[in-house]
Amino acid sequence: MKYLDVVITLLLSLLFTIGVGYEDTILIVGGCLFLALIFLSSKRWLKWLLIFPIGLIATLYFQTGYIYGHPNIGIIASLFETNKRESIEFLFAIPLKVWILNIILLVAFSYYLIRVEFEFKWRKLAFISGCICFYFSSLSLFLSHCYKSTEHYIKQIEVLKNSIYQTANWTILNVKPRYKTYVLIIGESMRKDYMSSYGYPLNTTPFLATTPGVFVNGYLSAASHTAVSLPRTLGVSRGLDLHPANNIITLANAAKMKTIWLSNQGFIGDYDTAVSAIAVHASEKHFLKKGNFLTNNTSDYALLPLFKRALDQPYNGSKLIVVHIMGSHENFCDRIKKDSYNLKDKDLSCYLSTYNQTDTIIKTIINDLKATQDSYSLMYFSDHGLNNVSTMKGKTQLVHGDLYKQNYEVPLIEIASNIHQHTILNKQISAFDFMSIFSDWIGVKTTQLPSLSIYQLSQNKNIQVLSGNKMVSFKSLKNDPDEVIRR
Ligand SMILES: [Zn+2]
Repeated sequence: MKYLDVVITLLLSLLFTIGVGYEDTILIVGGCLFLALIFLSSKRWLKWLLIFPIGLIATLYFQTGYIYGHPNIGIIASLFETNKRESIEFLFAIPLKVWILNIILLVAFSYYLIRVEFEFKWRKLAFISGCICFYFSSLSLFLSHCYKSTEHYIKQIEVLKNSIYQTANWTILNVKPRYKTYVLIIGESMRKDYMSSYGYPLNTTPFLATTPGVFVNGYLSAASHTAVSLPRTLGVSRGLDLHPANNIITLANAAKMKTIWLSNQGFIGDYDTAVSAIAVHASEKHFLKKGNFLTNNTSDYALLPLFKRALDQPYNGSKLIVVHIMGSHENFCDRIKKDSYNLKDKDLSCYLSTYNQTDTIIKTIINDLKATQDSYSLMYFSDHGLNNVSTMKGKTQLVHGDLYKQNYEVPLIEIASNIHQHTILNKQISAFDFMSIFSDWIGVKTTQLPSLSIYQLSQNKNIQVLSGNKMVSFKSLKNDPDEVIRR
């Protein structure tokens, strides 16, 4: 029955287009796919050699694409660097609706491959039209985004791997550290606007909301995924280009500081995650997760005794302790010991509870620092934000994404033994300048890098962020449709 075949092919084209993340242009790229599938349906060899393999990849990508959109370097990096536990967490977090759509897609695709066959009088013309339509279709766009993102990702991993064996070429002009202990806490998936310290009505960060410190309101992460954002924040970089041998750790080492890296994030294999290529330069490193197998879901609290030990180690000069937490990483309910808010919106409740947990961790670390009686400074920032993809009212589903301002609007905070006031600094600062901020913070001057404090950095109104595979103006991004209640 031809009528049924048309309907199924149309449904298949729509599901493919949504599932690989092009619903914005569904009429064009979905329409092209529909025409291509009709025109090429009688060519059996083409169906099995071209449409089948691409369609199969798209079917497997469906759940990722439905939630996170079309492939970009961040998604590809996450796919490569996610361990088994995270994959299982991801599969469990997928709403039932997405599973059902995925199954419908699979059934429609099988039906199309086996049953649908339209014969045309002008066979050659139909074939050529089919090929042209396919070229402009969502599946072809998907393939090209997959290819480009993987290419970028492989290039980035190569650069990062090579950097492990390179020595940094810092030329130190002058070293004058102001503090005995430096602590850098790297947060995860924390949006600024859900923090009470930045005005959220629920008191999600009670310690940060009142503690003396400098709170930058306008700090923007370099990119929207950990593996893409952190090598660009913690190392010298320009857009897609990376020079990771010159990073915060090699700079602190060159300044004769003791460098200690404590992490609750994965350390898969040897040095294959983007962040471990930087961590590896530290004189001491402790990873709570060793990657590979079903890694245990360790709480960030487990970092605290390690921190205390690192702090107590005697050392003559200044120390840099980096604490890389799991923070607010999806799935939020797995990150916390208890839900502090018990909101009806479970996902949001757990997400906000992770804020509370991170706030407590920062508070504990500050108390440990105070107890030493030595001078200290602590910086905290988050690697990127998230955006809400839920279409249901009263239900939040925050995920990684790169299309919204909130994917980049993150906290940057300094708390130090000589800061006695709670100050909000309204200024747009890019994480691409973090190396300069860091260099000023630890009191090091080099020939390679201007060292500038958050006060000295000029207000930059045209900050670019890495979105997908390219640099885009932050201003051009939309607001998350479910942007939280603002001050
Ligand atoms: Zn992240």
